[in-house]
Amino acid sequence: MTDTPPFGLSPVINVSGTITGLGASIASHAVREATAAMMGHFVNMHELQSRANQAIQRLTGAEAGFMTASASAGISLTVAGCMTGMDPGLAEELPCSPGPKSRVAVQLGHLCHYGAPVSQSVELAGADVLPVGQSTLCTDHSLRRAMGPEVSSALYVVSHHVVHYGQVPLKRFAEIAHEADVPVIVDAASEYDLRGFLADGADVVIYSGHKFLGGPTSGIVAGRRDLVRAAYLQNIGIGRGMKIGKESIAGAIAALEAWETRDHAGIREQEQVALDLWSAALEGIDGVTARPVADPTGNPLDRLEVTIDAGILGADASGIASALASRQTPIIVRNHEVELGYFQLDPCNLKPGQAEVVANALRELLTDHAALDQIPEDLASARNGGTDGYLSWGDAEE
Ligand SMILES: *Cc1c(COP(=O)(O)O)cnc(C)c1O
Repeated sequence: MTDTPPFGLSPVINVSGTITGLGASIASHAVREATAAMMGHFVNMHELQSRANQAIQRLTGAEAGFMTASASAGISLTVAGCMTGMDPGLAEELPCSPGPKSRVAVQLGHLCHYGAPVSQSVELAGADVLPVGQSTLCTDHSLRRAMGPEVSSALYVVSHHVVHYGQVPLKRFAEIAHEADVPVIVDAASEYDLRGFLADGADVVIYSGHKFLGGPTSGIVAGRRDLVRAAYLQNIGIGRGMKIGKESIAGAIAALEAWETRDHAGIREQEQVALDLWSAALEGIDGVTARPVADPTGNPLDRLEVTIDAGILGADASGIASALASRQTPIIVRNHEVELGYFQLDPCNLKPGQAEVVANALRELLTDHAALDQIPEDLASARNGGTDGYLSWGDAEE
C-alpha cells in the first residue's frame, strides 16, 4: 500500500465499522477539499450555520438544523434546549440549575454504551435520566406513566447496541410522548436514513457527521425549528466545550451534499465483492462458518459473520480477533458480540487492496493449527479494551 497515514503512524485495516478509536471514517476528496478551503477565511459563523441549515433541511426534510462537535454533543445540546427554550439566562445556568422540568425519559433497554454511556450525554446538560421499563421490556403503560410534569424530553436511541426486543417502537413512543406534549429526541448517530425518524414522529433527530456520511468530526441536529434554535442557543453555555469549527461545518456540508449524489448501489456492489471474497477464503476451513448478516438497525449493508468452533480450531473468536489486531498491520474486526462465538467483518471502510489482505490473513491464520493453539481466549479485552487503551496511554513515554 502506498498511501500511509501522516506522522509515520501505523496503518490500520478497519473491518469493524465507523469506530471512534480508529478515526471514525475516511473522507472523500470533495470533503477534504471543502474542509481545507475553509481554513483560510474568517466567516460569520451564524451565516455558515445557516448554510448548514439549508443542506440539513434539504437532506432530512427537517424544519431546521445545525452542526455541532459530535452526535454526543447534539444529545446534550438538544436535551438542554428542551429545558431552557430560548432563555439565555437559563442556558448559562446549566448544568447546575436545570429548573423543574429536568427529567429525560429513556427506555431502560436504550441506555447503551457507544464508547461512553448515553445517559451521560443527557446528564451533561444537568438533566436526570428517567429510566422507563426494564432492560428487556417497556410497555406502553410504563411509558405513558413516565410522562410526568417534570419530563422535558424523551430520548429514543437507534443502535445495534440497544436491546432489540420488548422496546416501544418509535412511532408508538412518539404518540405516547406527544399525548403529554413531550418532545422526542432520536439518537440516530449511525443511521443512513436521514428522513425516516422525523417522518415517524421524532421532533429532533441527531446524526454523526463522521460515521456513514464520511465527514469530519461533527454532529447534525435536525428537527422542529423551535427546539433546534433552543439547542443552538446552548453554544453560549454548555455547548462551548462542544464547539465545532468552521472547517468541520464546511466538510460536513460537503459530506451531506455528496450523500445526495453518492452511487449507493455501486458502493453496495463493491461491498458485496469483499463479502464474497472473504466467504470464498473461509470456505472449507474446518471449524469456521461464515454467513452474511443484515445490519441490525436496517442500514442497507451486510457484514460477514464468522463463527469459530473453538473445540475444532483450538482458539476462540475473541482470541482470533485479538490475534488479527496484533498483526504488524492490524486488522480490526467487529468484536462486540465475540462472547457469542463469532466476530463480523464490515466491508464499508476498505481501501483498495485491503479486502484481499484480510482474506489472505484470515485463511493463513485459521489454517495454521500450530499458531491457533498458542492463542489465548481474550474475552476481557473485547469488553474492557476501550477503557484499557485510555488507561495505558502514556505508559510507553514514561
Ligand atoms: C456513535 C454513536 C454516538 C456518538 O456519536 P459521536 O458523533 O461520535 O459523538 C451516539 N449514539 C450512538 C447510538 C452512536 O452509535
